[in-house]
Amino acid sequence: NPLPHVVILGAGYGGLVTAIRLQKMLNDQEADVTLVNKHDYHYLTAHLHKPAAGTDRDDNACISISELIDDAKVHFVKSTVLEIQPEQKKVVLEDRVLSYDYLVIGLGSEPETFGIPGVREYAFKIRSINSVRLIRTHIEYMFAKYKLEPHRTDYLTFVIGGSGLTGTEFVGELADRLPDLCKKYRVDSSLVNIYNVEMAPQALPMGLPSDLVDYGMDVLRRKGITYQLSTAIKECTPEGVVLGSGEFIKAATVIWTGGVRGNHLLEEAGFETVKGRVKVDEYLRDPRHPDVFIVGDCSMVQSPEGTPYPPSAQLAVRQGANVARNLAAILRNQPLKPFQFDYKGTVASLGKHEAVGVVNGKKVKGRVAAWIKRIIDARYLLIIGGVRLFLKKIT
Ligand code: FAD
Ligand code: NAD
Repeated sequence: NPLPHVVILGAGYGGLVTAIRLQKMLNDQEADVTLVNKHDYHYLTAHLHKPAAGTDRDDNACISISELIDDAKVHFVKSTVLEIQPEQKKVVLEDRVLSYDYLVIGLGSEPETFGIPGVREYAFKIRSINSVRLIRTHIEYMFAKYKLEPHRTDYLTFVIGGSGLTGTEFVGELADRLPDLCKKYRVDSSLVNIYNVEMAPQALPMGLPSDLVDYGMDVLRRKGITYQLSTAIKECTPEGVVLGSGEFIKAATVIWTGGVRGNHLLEEAGFETVKGRVKVDEYLRDPRHPDVFIVGDCSMVQSPEGTPYPPSAQLAVRQGANVARNLAAILRNQPLKPFQFDYKGTVASLGKHEAVGVVNGKKVKGRVAAWIKRIIDARYLLIIGGVRLFLKKIT
């Protein structure tokens, strides 16, 4: 008899942790495990704002999957998922079709554009190693072009649409990067403008205490960020952005950080979704398909207060561990354990040596917060790759 086949889609935080835990827990007589990912590397999505701005190398945000996965225990397939067929228990990849007994979907998120004209076509997005390479290269290219056409100050104008955590972390890095570019290209820094346009009356997430929001915005204003609050981006064109007020900001670089939704493949597969995300049951399964587990940004988990937890790497990692545990339990005819999320808090980086947030209910800011953020990042490396990976990436 063939062994049960567990297929994991996506080697992001949720999918990778599921695979790593399964490879530790299962013996080779219990199941065949296949991990599918578009690339042969895992990228640290939570780190992407740095290579996007050019304050860190993109290879620091990547880890080869072969370093993390034992191919004697987990079969890795580098391929793109084109379609999920939950009724047939099949997954269509670009080069083959896989059948499964249990499926774990961890395909991450996509930009939410709210149908705003031009955002899809003309704005950059921080979403993968390839997309951030393009942003970093484009920013530098704009400096080079400005030197040839010095009347084009729009080459030195950067608009970031959305001041949630992604927008905030990115502008902090961009502000740190620009002095180097100004020096390299001999550009007067007073000609450079960074606009962070936000629909809400404040930057940073709504739940953050107001003194921490003020602190974060003060730090970023001092670094040169111009906030346009209570202002929605209404349209994006090849020349810039149109604001709700009708004002036009001429800018050769627009980066959209206005929010995310779950991977489109779930909606297309017929799963019931809200913002592309499936409201999973207490074991993180699709309510209509108990053989399909969904983790990370593709899933929606209610907090005890009844509101969904915001999608995060922190949540995806915990979900991956729970799904692996429950898959092992199913294979061994043992009871399942409901998912419980012990939310630790949020820390937003504001560029080099600066961060702000709440950890275990305590407010943190400045250098201390920046150190805590580094510890959180390091902890993840320990979870997926042990001390060897930690030493390789940290030193
Ligand atoms: P991801 O980690 O995005 O992984 C999805 C995987 O699926 C990728 O490997 C991708 O290549 C693969 N994939 C996608 N489509 C296909 C396909 N069709 N076929 C094959 N493979 C595919 N959260 C925090 O908790 N803390 C933070 O500090 C933090 N900082 C962030 C900073 C930035 C700049 C951003 C953008 C996000 C940040 N987040 C943070 C949010 C966090 O990164 C996400 O919630 C997290 O990555 C979700 O994990 P995931 O496993 O669902 O998907
Ligand atoms: P988000 O939805 O949290 O923020 C998007 C922001 O864009 C909102 O403030 C929204 O008001 C604004 N916006 C939307 N439409 C707009 C428009 N037309 N014009 C102007 N502003 C507009 O999205 P995000 O920042 O990409 O974060 C996505 C998820 O990833 C969140 O759950 C977040 O918690 C998580 N994340 C966490 C961290 C961290 O923990 N440090 C960092 C980044 C992201």
